[in-house]
Amino acid sequence: MKSQIHKIHQQLVNKKITCTALVQERLDLLKLNTHNTVNSILDEIALKLATKVDAKIKNGEEIGLLEGIPFGIKDVFMLQGTYATASSDLLKNYKSPYTATAIQKLLDAGAIPLVKENCDSFGHGSSSENTIFGAVKNAIDPTLVAGGSSGGSAVNVAKDFTVFSIGGDTGGSIRQPAGYNNVFGFKPTYGRISRFGLMAYASSTDCVGPIARSIEDIRIVLNVMSGKDSKDQTTNQSKSISQESIVNADDIKTVGYFKNFIENDAIDSEIKTAFLTSIAKIKAQGIQVKELDFFESETLVSAYYTLAMAETASNLSRLDGTNYGHRIEGANLKESYSITRSENFSEETKRRIVGGNQVLSQGFSDEIYLKGLNLRDQIAENFEKDFKEVDVILSPVTPNKPPKIGESLKDPLSMYLSDAFTVGFSLGQLPTITVPQGTATGLQITAAKNKDKLVLKFANFLKDTI
Ligand code: GLN
Repeated sequence: MKSQIHKIHQQLVNKKITCTALVQERLDLLKLNTHNTVNSILDEIALKLATKVDAKIKNGEEIGLLEGIPFGIKDVFMLQGTYATASSDLLKNYKSPYTATAIQKLLDAGAIPLVKENCDSFGHGSSSENTIFGAVKNAIDPTLVAGGSSGGSAVNVAKDFTVFSIGGDTGGSIRQPAGYNNVFGFKPTYGRISRFGLMAYASSTDCVGPIARSIEDIRIVLNVMSGKDSKDQTTNQSKSISQESIVNADDIKTVGYFKNFIENDAIDSEIKTAFLTSIAKIKAQGIQVKELDFFESETLVSAYYTLAMAETASNLSRLDGTNYGHRIEGANLKESYSITRSENFSEETKRRIVGGNQVLSQGFSDEIYLKGLNLRDQIAENFEKDFKEVDVILSPVTPNKPPKIGESLKDPLSMYLSDAFTVGFSLGQLPTITVPQGTATGLQITAAKNKDKLVLKFANFLKDTI
């Protein structure tokens, strides 16, 4: 797939289409869609911006590459004056008082927001069924889940309703739905893109990233959103990645993969065979392939969920109906908090708040939470050791193919285990992309911290190799 951004940019510049017609067409598709991808449509804002772009073109003014390009936003980001619901009853009527840094940078570059996209409530889930707006349906087979939590965003891109969408990835939420819907999804190194204005789930692994239909579009959007932000002290400055710098992958000599991911009983046999075939094709190109040892999937999932639940319990404690959200009055203040939270949070979100408060509580925190932190350190050390031996790590995105809609809700534990291959890279804060190739749910490419360029480079190489 060629860059959609370049293609549309040329069409606008050459006056083959007007921006208003382009935006209107995509808005109509979104409105009529039956995949439940839309939480709210931003037609007023979008059409107003499109008119401005058309006026510029008519006046013979130059337009930037992203100017007039329509995009979608997962409904956990702030965009001033629009609903930011997190797909929850609690924030169903909440409007953003400000705009997230990453989104503001896209607006400054002239991109046009069309839609706030359906997702798992507060990012809690791997299927986009934990939402008050109805389960998101898979773009390829609508009886299957879209994946999560950025399911609406991945489906909008896959169906070409948006040119690109912005998701949030805490433990796989960009990469897994990208894999389930056959598109590219990139979780950059933690801190490359500001989290300011992204509703906090687990702050230590929350990342902002693009979903698109080509590596080039991922690169363009990534460059625009990256950079240090005084409003997020965990951000750092990074170098822009040029188109030419990712064309040639000759400096990638060694690829590693985790033996225990592939030799696990839990992996679907088709995914396993397809993965090993991809590895063979890479070897055939003269690249050295090394098997690596890693933690067992259960250990990774337990460490991730221990920390993610603890952090989300803490982050969501501010949502009690006082400053934010739909307040339900009780007989006294305490009861008001209690009813507001128990009536307005979903079952899955409550499970995580209860679990998180449990692991943080006195008597348990040493036993469980500190163990989780310790494991995270060991995981990071393991990666450091690995990246002394290999340039990139390749892995399947998920152990299994997407389940039918309804199945994950019955069995939360098996849903958590579907994150087995994504959460480790989140705990390591590493740059990881999903490419829609190599297995039925794609492949993940990971490199050491801040080597985001290497990840895109290898993705380009794989495009022609497998
Ligand atoms: N599925 C994982 C979870 O529910 C990851 C979600 C995410 O990255 N937001 O925690």
